[in-house]
Amino acid sequence: MTKMPHVLLISLPFQGHISPMMQFTKTLASKGLQVTFLCLSSTIVLKDSINIEYVTYKNDRKARNPEEYMANIERQASDKLVEVMEKQKGLGQPFDVLVHDSLMSWAVDLGHQHGLRVASFFTQACAVSTIYYLAFEGKFMVPVEEGSGLSFLPSSIPITEIRDFPKDLLGVHPGVSDLLTGQFSHVQKDDWILFNTFLELENEVVNWLSSKWKIMTIGPSVPSMFLDKRLADDRDYGLSLFKPDGDACIKWLDGKDSDSVVYVSFGSLANLEQDYMDEIAWGLLDSKCSFIWVVRDTEKSKLSEKFVEESADRGLIVNWSPQLEVLAHKAVGSFMTHCGWNSTLEALSLGVPMMVVPQWTDQTTNAKYIVDVWQTGVRVKAHDKEKITREDVTKSVKDVMEGTKREELKANALKFKEMALEAMSEGGSSDKNIDDFIAEIVTSSTST
Ligand code: UDP
Repeated sequence: MTKMPHVLLISLPFQGHISPMMQFTKTLASKGLQVTFLCLSSTIVLKDSINIEYVTYKNDRKARNPEEYMANIERQASDKLVEVMEKQKGLGQPFDVLVHDSLMSWAVDLGHQHGLRVASFFTQACAVSTIYYLAFEGKFMVPVEEGSGLSFLPSSIPITEIRDFPKDLLGVHPGVSDLLTGQFSHVQKDDWILFNTFLELENEVVNWLSSKWKIMTIGPSVPSMFLDKRLADDRDYGLSLFKPDGDACIKWLDGKDSDSVVYVSFGSLANLEQDYMDEIAWGLLDSKCSFIWVVRDTEKSKLSEKFVEESADRGLIVNWSPQLEVLAHKAVGSFMTHCGWNSTLEALSLGVPMMVVPQWTDQTTNAKYIVDVWQTGVRVKAHDKEKITREDVTKSVKDVMEGTKREELKANALKFKEMALEAMSEGGSSDKNIDDFIAEIVTSSTST
């Protein structure tokens, strides 16, 4: 019997990057490849079905800026990457392919130097990636200024307002913008370019990017039991930086009526300003709806005692939820989200209407697509005023939870749920790309 190729995957230490790549790892394993996932030692293993190598990683809190922070990761992760590749070679069973997070440009040369073929894994939307690519190519100057016009965008990207542009290209975080546009510094050298999205979701822009390089859409990279159900018991990504309050959430939801609960989460990184938190809190309370709000322990001090007391009979506040289980629960009627790409894909895959409150990076652009292109959500802040107000929050909850607007959003959300399922099911666009990727790996490994 021929030996199946061995693929090494390396992720960045952020939940939004670990999860989709870990899921992809499981998918490759389920299709017969040998896999090793390289990640950080601080993650919690939710399921132990994959060969995982941990990088002993020190989070350098003294880093003065994102460049220093990322350089620290590069130093630690690249040493480990080389060690793992050499160890495997020493055993006489070298890895065949390296899949790296697209933000780890440095991994491409390391992989090639060690005789591996290399794939780049993008954890953001194709639309956003296209904008970063245009910035990298110098098609517009970063930072983009208010009022400068966005005519440099191709017609496949229907963005005309600066508020919908990726926020990091507006000069807020110069280090971050270099990092994001730098994802394209290595694509010429990558043997494959993979995107966690699906063709039917971003058809035009996928076609536009495909005219530059051969790209493969392989998403939504979401646990199988929520889509095609081909991986038995696969209900979570498998690795988490936080411990979910799973039982508490599900028991609480079991006692609620169908479509009666608003789920609120701003992901793993966002730090909301105090007045932002206050307006969301009081707006949720004024809406009279039940809600689960994920407030990470580091953010908890921003909740007033008065709010916690007054919301106790209608709200559940948790440090971390099993988000997919929550979104899939019949009691959950809507999702107030910061529009991180994974949260966006999860809500689309589960057919849940959204209220969008984007914070930074790609979230502003994802929000535009959710509201205006896919029409599965509403903006919480629909006006041009600087801050959101509690009235905005209450109104958006009402729009998404009741009346004709809800019906429209729900119908669209269900349409995308169906498309996501099709893309990942046998013969679907993403499934086919994954199979092609594997076939190419097998061919290239046996021919060397
Ligand atoms: N998530 C979760 N429980 C929570 C909040 C978030 O499991 O209470 C997961 C969520 O399902 C998603 C990831 O964390 O897969 C967050 O990624 P996303 O890209 O949405 O946002 P980021 O954290 O990168 O800003």
